[in-house]
Amino acid sequence: NLEKPLENPIYEELTPFLEAMDRQNKEKEAVANMRKEFSANVSHELKTPLTSISGYAEIMKNGMVRPQDMPAFSERIYKEARRLITLVEDIIKLSKLDEESVEIEKTEVDLFELCREIVSRLAPQAAGKKVRLAVTGEPVKYFGIRQILDEMIYNICENAIKYNVEGGYVDVWAGNTLEGPKVAVTDTGIGIPKEHQERIFERFYRVDKSHSKETGGTGLGLSIVKHGALLHGAHVTVSSTEGKGTRMEIKFPREKEAALL
Ligand code: ADP
Repeated sequence: NLEKPLENPIYEELTPFLEAMDRQNKEKEAVANMRKEFSANVSHELKTPLTSISGYAEIMKNGMVRPQDMPAFSERIYKEARRLITLVEDIIKLSKLDEESVEIEKTEVDLFELCREIVSRLAPQAAGKKVRLAVTGEPVKYFGIRQILDEMIYNICENAIKYNVEGGYVDVWAGNTLEGPKVAVTDTGIGIPKEHQERIFERFYRVDKSHSKETGGTGLGLSIVKHGALLHGAHVTVSSTEGKGTRMEIKFPREKEAALL
C-alpha cells in the first residue's frame, strides 16, 4: 500500500516515515490477533488448577481424607493456588501490554545496568540451582519503557536458569552493535528442540508441560517478551541446541529508527 512516485524528492524524504507507519499498523494487527487467541486459552488454563483445588477441598470437606493424608492434600491445594496466582499475575502483565493501556512514558534506560539489577534479583534462584550467572558488556542507553524492558529481560534470564542443568552457566550480555542496542542471554541448559523453537513465543506454549509445571512455568513468559519487543520495535531471536544450551537475543532498533515508532 505504499504506492510511490519515485521521482518525487519529497516522497523520498517521507519514505522512512511511511514505512514506519506501515510497520506500526502491521504490528497493531498482530497484537490484536494474538489477543483473540489468548482469551480462548486463558479460560482453560485457569480452569485446570481451579478444578483441582475444588476437587481436593471437596474430598477434605466430606471427611474422606485420613488424618495422615491431610498434609499432602493441603500441600496440593496450596501449590495449585500459588500456580493460579502466578498465572493471574502473568495475565495482568500481558494485558497491560495492550496498546491502549500502554501509556507509560519512555525514558532513557541503561540496558547494561538493568541487566545487572535483574541478575542480582535472580541470584537466589540461580544459587538454588547451582547455576552461575554473569553479566558482561558495556553501558548502553536505550529509550524505552523501563518496566516492560525489565519484564522482558527478567523472563529470558529466568528461563535460562529454570531450563538449565545443575552447575550450568548463564551469561548475560548487553551492549551496542552496528545494528543497534542488543541484549543476549546464553545458557548451558537443556536446549529447545528445533521444531519447538518458533512456537515457544506463543501463549501457553511449553515444550515439556510436566517439566514446565514443575518449574512453576505458566507458558506466558515468552509471550510477554514478544509483546514487549513489538512495543519497542525490537526483534527476539533464538538459537538453541538440544542438550547444549540456548541463546536468546533482543535486538533493539537504533535510536533514529526507534524515534519513528
Ligand atoms: P514457561 O512459563 O513455561 O517457562 P515461557 O513462555 O517462558 O513459559 O517459555 C515457553 C517454553 O519455552 C518453556 O516452557 C520451555 O519449554 C521453553 N524454553 C524457554 N526458554 C528456554 C531455555 N532457555 N532453555 C530451554 N527451554 C526454554
